[in-house]
Amino acid sequence: MSVRVRFAPSPTGYLHMGGARTALFNYLFARKEGGTFVLRIEDTDLERSKPEYTQVILDAMEWLGMSPDEGPYYQTQRFDLYREKIDELLAAGHAYKCFSTPEELEADREKALAEGRKPMYSRKWRDRTDHPEGEPFVIRIKMPLEGTLTINDMVQGTVTVDVKELDDFIIARSDGSPTYNFVVVVDDATMNISHVIRGNDHLNNTFRQIPVYQALGYDIPTFGHLPLIDGLSKRKGSASVQVYREQGFLKEAIVNYISRLGWSHGDQELFTMAELESFFGFDHVGRSSSTFDQDKFLWVNSEWMKRLEPEELAKRWLPYLEDAGYSVELDERLVAITALMRDRVNTMVALTEESHYFFTEDVTYDEKASKKWLKAGGLEGFGALVSRLEQLEDWSASSIEAVYKEVMAEFELGMAKVAQPTRIALTGATNSPSVYDLVATFERDVAIARLQKGLAYYTEYVGDA
Ligand code: GLU
Repeated sequence: MSVRVRFAPSPTGYLHMGGARTALFNYLFARKEGGTFVLRIEDTDLERSKPEYTQVILDAMEWLGMSPDEGPYYQTQRFDLYREKIDELLAAGHAYKCFSTPEELEADREKALAEGRKPMYSRKWRDRTDHPEGEPFVIRIKMPLEGTLTINDMVQGTVTVDVKELDDFIIARSDGSPTYNFVVVVDDATMNISHVIRGNDHLNNTFRQIPVYQALGYDIPTFGHLPLIDGLSKRKGSASVQVYREQGFLKEAIVNYISRLGWSHGDQELFTMAELESFFGFDHVGRSSSTFDQDKFLWVNSEWMKRLEPEELAKRWLPYLEDAGYSVELDERLVAITALMRDRVNTMVALTEESHYFFTEDVTYDEKASKKWLKAGGLEGFGALVSRLEQLEDWSASSIEAVYKEVMAEFELGMAKVAQPTRIALTGATNSPSVYDLVATFERDVAIARLQKGLAYYTEYVGDA
């Protein structure tokens, strides 16, 4: 039997990281098994579902590199099929019309609670034929009355439920619209889904769904219920792929990080998508819930920022620079800035912030840094440094280094005494990478102009003090 799996998001918000993890495990399982990955949009909740969310989910999946092989299918386009299946169940006596009023159901519920019983529908219409004419009704499925149901879950192992726990749940509301636990079965069966892989929060639903498969004469798929993820914000829109992307996480890091939420491969922490596709398997998906660890996620992102080629990383950086209001082109200089700065940060947004001085016209001198480093004793040497750099033809880190060494020896100055005023002149403060690389990464004219201006400021600063 060929493997067919599906991801079935409801388009009621952005793609949450938990949903992305479910999608990824389905995608990886399909790749590993040479199967098909289907996307189904569960948009039957007409009030909460929005087409723009469907688009956001599709975009996020494409961006992460896990586009479906088939679909998207939309449940709202399949109502005729659901209707047909409901009629089939009614005709076969597996489902029935229930005329209980909401008031009646509420009274039953309160009574059960008062008596310490689990509230369940009384099944009073299950076998009745004296249907009142013209009264509203819902359609309920007949759950088995005796016995147990067992699944061999790919993750949770053998799970058994006593059918006494299961209610004759509603499969069609009084307006005729079908409900989730019913349509999901019709869809999974008619789409020939072989493995239903979803969050463990659906485990209870699985046991409601099994009798529906049986009633409709469908084969029951294999189930895999993924452990839950603790520590993810449930606030709408937060903890979504989109938001992490905006915060400067690379797609490689997102895929890598979520793959490890519940799955492991020895001690390895960093994986390419290709590695995941070949290593992934349910034998190493654990049962216990995992915790979303923001610091580790940042670490994985910083590792991926170092792993990508600088040209590629610079290309990925452009939209963030644009968002920050800098108009920058992808050229050698940007690639050099990327290579110089990427080790110092762990997100693309932080890369922009950390590198701001390369993109602004001017710098603002930090008072604390000035006070600490612009001392009278270093001024002459710094002046000599600036004029020798003005003469320097070969604007490379090694030639620049030679000039610094010369000046330090001649004026008997320690490294910090020339390096820190340089940093202040070029960036406004002292937090920046290796000074030779820093100077070399600036365009020669820009560096010289800033050093000259910095020297004037230094002179004035020392004079004022
Ligand atoms: N649409 C359901 C959800 O968003 C998923 C259902 C399923 O995977 O069976 O939670």
